[in-house]
Amino acid sequence: MTYKTVTLKRGKEESLERFHPWVFSGAIAAADDTIEEGDLVSVYSHDGKLIGNGHSQIGSIAVRMLTFDDTAIDEAFYRQRLQDAYKMRQALGLQREDNNAYRLVHGEGDFLPGLVVDIYGPTAVMQAHSPGMHFARDIIAQSLTTLPGIRNVYYKSETTLPYKAHLDPMNDYIIGGMETDEALENGLRFHVDWLKGQKTGFFVDQRENRRLLEHYSKGRKVLNMFCYTGGFSVYALRGGAQQVHSVDSSAKAVRLTDDNVALNFDAGDYRHQSFAEDAFKFLDNMEKDAYDLIILDPPAFAKHKSALRNALVGYRRLNAKALEKIAPGSILFTFSCSQAVNKEQFRLAVFSAAAQSRRKVRILHQLTQPADHPINIYHPEGEYLKGLVLYVE
Ligand code: SAH
Repeated sequence: MTYKTVTLKRGKEESLERFHPWVFSGAIAAADDTIEEGDLVSVYSHDGKLIGNGHSQIGSIAVRMLTFDDTAIDEAFYRQRLQDAYKMRQALGLQREDNNAYRLVHGEGDFLPGLVVDIYGPTAVMQAHSPGMHFARDIIAQSLTTLPGIRNVYYKSETTLPYKAHLDPMNDYIIGGMETDEALENGLRFHVDWLKGQKTGFFVDQRENRRLLEHYSKGRKVLNMFCYTGGFSVYALRGGAQQVHSVDSSAKAVRLTDDNVALNFDAGDYRHQSFAEDAFKFLDNMEKDAYDLIILDPPAFAKHKSALRNALVGYRRLNAKALEKIAPGSILFTFSCSQAVNKEQFRLAVFSAAAQSRRKVRILHQLTQPADHPINIYHPEGEYLKGLVLYVE
């Protein structure tokens, strides 16, 4: 099947021949002038060879490739890609009696650029990051319900689509409705607020890292900075922490954390306390040696490459504040989820913070995103989550 055509400049087919899924606007020699944003297009090399089909978009990424052949992009296509994604998650063992929260579709990592789907029990929460996926939302939602156990599809695109008045983004159920807002992660219960929460309502990408944190929590005084739904706090409590303090600048996040603690432990576990405060202020005011396990999981400091320098300064400052005050013999879990910051840059920022604090610091673990957030080998940009676990003397 072929669609409206986009022809590349000479030599610009090279990265696509290596299956990189983006066509940048500067690579295009000519395009049908009837193409509208979100349309399906067929991409050709300068000498007329079909490279594949994709979604067109206005901006520096002009086409997001869906196929590298002439396969039609129809309901059968989406069903197949979603089934492939589901099969992979089954191989990972993520759908279990004690776990029903995981990412089913991770954009380019599942060969569906522009689409994210997280599963919370019987509900799929779907976000479109491209106009093409937005226009395909109904077919995708229908296809999702052909997978075992998925009965409701909530679509949430108001914050993810590039702003264009005509796109008419929506936040609503496409299929079904609210059945339960509770999800299970490694045997722990969480309320997930996809209606009003950030992203799809929960950060499933920290699942494995939370489990590691649990392992280190016994008897420790834990500070969970940027707690959001309290994921790390709940694991620390189960791990036998002596005390857990959760901090987030959003009062709503603090309430979510309190709710999730109450859902898993006796109402108001005396070991847990939460604070609606700015992270930097809290760290400035906290006493030295008050904590011997600190988690720093801030929002992305660099949303774009242009913010990289400031972001690195931010990571250095944040980590230096924690490293200056953490007790001797402590463990620090520190993360960056900025795609624009690579592993080496993040490690260098933390290294500078360690040097500034003049502490003896060793790396125990180098963490990343879990397997349900796979990295398409042809799209290394898909690697975004970086973490270090440090032992601080
Ligand atoms: N660790 C969480 C995810 C963190 S998301 C988890 O495991 O799910 C980032 C959080 O940082 C958001 O909840 C946001 O409200 C909070 N935040 C952003 N800026 C902040 C600041 N300056 N101080 C404290 N919290 C902040």
